[in-house]
Amino acid sequence: MKKRHWKKLLVAGSAAVATAAVVKKTYDDRQKIQRKRDVDAEIGRRVYGEREAYIIGGGLAGLAAAAYLVRDCNFPGQNIHILESGPTVGAWNAGSGPQGISNYGCLLFECGHENFWELFSAIPSRIKPSRSVAEEIRNFAESHPVYAKARLMNREGKILDAADMGFRNEERKALGMLLFTAEEDMECKTIEEWFADMPHFFETGFWEIWQSAFGFRPESAMVDFKRSFERRLPEFGRLDTQEGMVCTPWNLHESILLPLKVYLEKRRVQIHTGVTVTDLDFTGQEIEVTRLYLHQNGKEQRVELKAQDLCFLTNGSVMDHAAAGDLDKPASGEEGLSEAGGLWKKIADRIPGYLGNPETFYSCKRDTARQYITVTCRGNNLLGEIGNITGNVPGSGGFISFRESGWKLSIMVPFQPYFQKQSLGETVFWGMGLMPEETGTYIQKPMQDCTGREIVMEILGHLGLMEIQDELMETVIQAVPCLLPYGGAPYQPRSREDRPPVVPERAANLALIGSFAEVKEELALSAEYEVRSARTAVYTLLKIDKEIAPVTPYKKDPMMLVKALHGVYR
Ligand SMILES: Cc1cc2nc3c(=O)[nH]c(=O)nc-3n(C[C@H](O)[C@H](O)[C@H](O)COP(=O)(O)OP(=O)(O)OC[C@H]3O[C@@H](n4cnc5c(N)ncnc54)[C@H](O)[C@@H]3O)c2cc1C
Repeated sequence: MKKRHWKKLLVAGSAAVATAAVVKKTYDDRQKIQRKRDVDAEIGRRVYGEREAYIIGGGLAGLAAAAYLVRDCNFPGQNIHILESGPTVGAWNAGSGPQGISNYGCLLFECGHENFWELFSAIPSRIKPSRSVAEEIRNFAESHPVYAKARLMNREGKILDAADMGFRNEERKALGMLLFTAEEDMECKTIEEWFADMPHFFETGFWEIWQSAFGFRPESAMVDFKRSFERRLPEFGRLDTQEGMVCTPWNLHESILLPLKVYLEKRRVQIHTGVTVTDLDFTGQEIEVTRLYLHQNGKEQRVELKAQDLCFLTNGSVMDHAAAGDLDKPASGEEGLSEAGGLWKKIADRIPGYLGNPETFYSCKRDTARQYITVTCRGNNLLGEIGNITGNVPGSGGFISFRESGWKLSIMVPFQPYFQKQSLGETVFWGMGLMPEETGTYIQKPMQDCTGREIVMEILGHLGLMEIQDELMETVIQAVPCLLPYGGAPYQPRSREDRPPVVPERAANLALIGSFAEVKEELALSAEYEVRSARTAVYTLLKIDKEIAPVTPYKKDPMMLVKALHGVYR
């Protein structure tokens, strides 16, 4: 055959293959759409009758579970009861408390929050209900990008080079190997134990940045370190500038949790605050919850569950025994287990082997405690000084970590105003200490024993502002220290059985949600973890045949790996 004919044949063949691929894709897409329609139609036909769902805990996980019930299962809102012991839902980041404004978090990422963005693209913004919360946050983040110029500082307010990760070759290799190491090989191990023969690893700029971004200590679980590494791989090349961070228009409580609450209220979900669930009864071979014991307004009550009723339990909370102080009073946490951990222990002890081991997470406060501080100032003096030092205007700088801090202190200056209740002329920033039991660098006391005023003095020391501290302290209206004895508890080293599955074996109507139930491959203490656990719980108990957005396998993306490699070799 002539060359020209071969050419024609090749072109025709390629065209046929391309057409076949397009036809197949179109066919698959149609099948998918049809399947989705069938699933939606089946769910639409469901009649739940008098069936009720009890959600214990009104944090992000509990609220998300209620949202999935109404949105994806057609479950009647008025038959869903959220039982929350606190005065308001959304424990985390509860906004303004009696002591004043306080804040505990701000971290959101575009990458690795698959179910979070999907859920919040269905929740209307409170400010402009025609757009979703996801859209509102993305718009805001686009016009208020983060580009940190002072990620790390020494003890005198000098900016350190955070682009240099400071690795030695053996450390780079060890990090790379993590991608190929199974979680089983790390069971019960701490990060410190894993890198025991490379003590220099804990002196690198990388460790300083990573631990403050995720709240790790060397005693935290190696499995969580690996998960953080794999889930946040896209951040690796931009750790110094924190460009991957997504800022919200207000604090997380007002930007995320309040719109979710409004969405649920509009669907008549019953939100009961001031109600503590103190115990559960379950019977039979299956774990079937039959009764809830409640404590409300000083009275004990019981709720009997009917056959087919559902129970979603937040089995543990990082806010357990959280305590706040003020400008002149330290925060002091209570002893022992509180409602979330206490209830989990009660029921886990009753059927050993099925509901995990709460003691693993709740027995070592030294390793699990984290401390937060929220500072409210009159006027802009202090924030102005911070801006002069860092080169960042409020909201653009991300975390600033003080490398030599004994408390492992970081601060963040958010976009102002950060709270809707914030008065005109007031400015707010916040910080956290990963080692509140250690002695400070300037204040010779553990952070957990310090008043808000003392913590602010320590911060001023690290910023190199000691000389004008009196003048600046006069502008500080309030400083609320908040001690979370179990703030890092989900990162405790553990074995596979310690965190129970979201739907435990033998469970007929019980699912566990939040940071203390096991969500495979996911990094606890992230909004995605809570939302994913809630979606898994709801879809499993109600047999919903819809997709839960899978964990994106960044480590299998060659471009991502190249970028990460570039970050490691800087
Ligand atoms: C300090 C801090 C900062 C964080 N910052 C971020 C961040 O910036 N970005 C991010 O993505 N993630 C962050 N997280 C992680 C994660 O998003 C939060 O931990 C999240 O709030 C957990 O949600 P949850 O519903 O599981 O638990 P929680 O928020 O702890 O809520 C549990 C709720 O259940 C209630 N409750 C518990 N037991 C009972 C009971 N028996 N009866 C009645 N009520 C009960 C509690 O009162 C509480 O309100 C942060 C976590 C902490 C601790």
